[in-house]
Amino acid sequence: MKDIKNDEKLNVLNHSCAHLLAHAVKHIYPNAKFWVGPVIDNGFYYDIDLGDITLTEEDLPNIEREMKKISKSDKLIKRIELSKNEALDMFKDDEYKIDLISRMDENDTIISAYRQDDFIDLCRGPHMHSTKDMKYFKLLKVSGAYWKGDANNKMLQRIYGVCFETEDDLNKYLEFLEEAKKRDHKKLGKELELFMISEYGPGFPFFLPKGMILRNILENYWYEEHTKEGYQFVKTPIMLSKELWEVSGHWYNYRENMYTSEIDDKVFAIKPMNCPGGMLVYKNSLHSYKDLPIRMGELGLVHRHEASGALNGLFRVRTFTQDDAHIFMREDQMEEEIIRLIGFIDRVYSLFKLPYSIELSTRPEDKYIGDIEVWNRSEKILEEACKKAGKECKINPGDGAFYGPKLDFHVTDSLGREWQCGTIQLDMNLPERFDLNYIDQNGKKVRPIMLHRVIFGSVERFIGILIEHFAGAFPLWLSPVQVNIIPVNNEYHLEYSKKIKELLEKENIRVELDDREEKLSYKMRESVVKKNPYTLILGDKERDSKTISYRLRGSNETINMSIKDFIKKLEKEITNKGI
Ligand SMILES: [Zn+2]
Ligand SMILES: [Zn+2]
Repeated sequence: MKDIKNDEKLNVLNHSCAHLLAHAVKHIYPNAKFWVGPVIDNGFYYDIDLGDITLTEEDLPNIEREMKKISKSDKLIKRIELSKNEALDMFKDDEYKIDLISRMDENDTIISAYRQDDFIDLCRGPHMHSTKDMKYFKLLKVSGAYWKGDANNKMLQRIYGVCFETEDDLNKYLEFLEEAKKRDHKKLGKELELFMISEYGPGFPFFLPKGMILRNILENYWYEEHTKEGYQFVKTPIMLSKELWEVSGHWYNYRENMYTSEIDDKVFAIKPMNCPGGMLVYKNSLHSYKDLPIRMGELGLVHRHEASGALNGLFRVRTFTQDDAHIFMREDQMEEEIIRLIGFIDRVYSLFKLPYSIELSTRPEDKYIGDIEVWNRSEKILEEACKKAGKECKINPGDGAFYGPKLDFHVTDSLGREWQCGTIQLDMNLPERFDLNYIDQNGKKVRPIMLHRVIFGSVERFIGILIEHFAGAFPLWLSPVQVNIIPVNNEYHLEYSKKIKELLEKENIRVELDDREEKLSYKMRESVVKKNPYTLILGDKERDSKTISYRLRGSNETINMSIKDFIKKLEKEITNKGI
């Protein structure tokens, strides 16, 4: 997907289209007042005060028509430069513009406005030359938005849109939106009965029985793979006392995102990260250089405050499970360990057919802790490790955390959208703060090198990504229901269907039997909607020949085989984790 905000041409085009939108709105609603209309990653929006009028999606075609009219009329877009006083005078009836202008510095800013025909708007620019340059646009949605994002302020109307250079680009984008809508994990999560969100817990998702099957499979897979990679596992408490968060520094740097509670008059914080607990586990015993590396994994449930407006299904939540691990090692083990980790992450993403790219974020210019030599060495090691693992890495200079450089892994889903999932983060801060050490060959205390790392990132969010990536049509090994059995006629075929169900269940295959008194065609349609990988249709022929007939998801072909062969086929597909 093109990032409109960072594409120079599309940025100006979309920004100019925001003006075109405001122009059209002013024609239709003469009392409209305009706040800001920025370009965003996927288009633009404009925040508008329409008095008592609340817009709905149905108003958008009308506004679009007016925009088309203005576009066709080919009005030149002219820049006007004003002094602060002139600007204040020009927009004196508009409290929003007054707010913006009065915060501008008179001395070093020339205030500019842009005029197109009878519409003028305060703006820095730059702009397209004429209104006719914006031809291929679409208004996408409208929502309420508080002025300056503050719930105590007035609610404005926010209209979203997007503009492209060609009709083809616009159509492709609209098709993409259509496809993304079909795959929306909130919609599919409901249809496939995977998870729910209750008004009693905004940002706190509930996993339903089918979602739990998916989740348990993922977590079991995680444990198995980490065991193979030599990890040990811990579970650290959800709540720990304020004093711990003071030692870790979270109390000073992360307090506004933490939930707190009290126990026996003492303040406790619900963990926003697993790290401090992990440090205590490391400190619980003495370590020798021979014990390293120690790979300590934790599927750790964390809570972080998010504004209610930012919450979004499983993507933006207030509680999630990090597939965390802390790795403690000697400096001479670092390169090998990171190469191994990249290989591990590569294996996991490949299984889900998620291509990915790696970014290396290096030392910030001024605010950093630790020795610059250690930084340089670590950055070099991270970069070398990528190379030796056969992976390219893009460097983001100065983008590292103050406590160490990191590698970020961005996966690309089947719709071409990027998601940051994995990260390998070197930390020079916590080992210091918690005074971690090991005993070297000479009996001396030495600080270990410590990494934080995740692969899924958040289990919940990763499930959301998988739902959209697979459009709910999970590979067999992940499918909550693997086989759906439909008797052609309950009266004659239910008994045989039950027998087949038992046989499959004995082989640990997840199976459902649809014995409702509904028409066969209805049940088959529903099995398609539920995206069941295999649908068995059992009638006279199957019962009499002791066979089964199945339809594979996405196919209209019915295939007949013996139950034994069918089980063998499924088992092979499940073991291979085929996609
Ligand atoms: Zn502008
Ligand atoms: Zn950590």
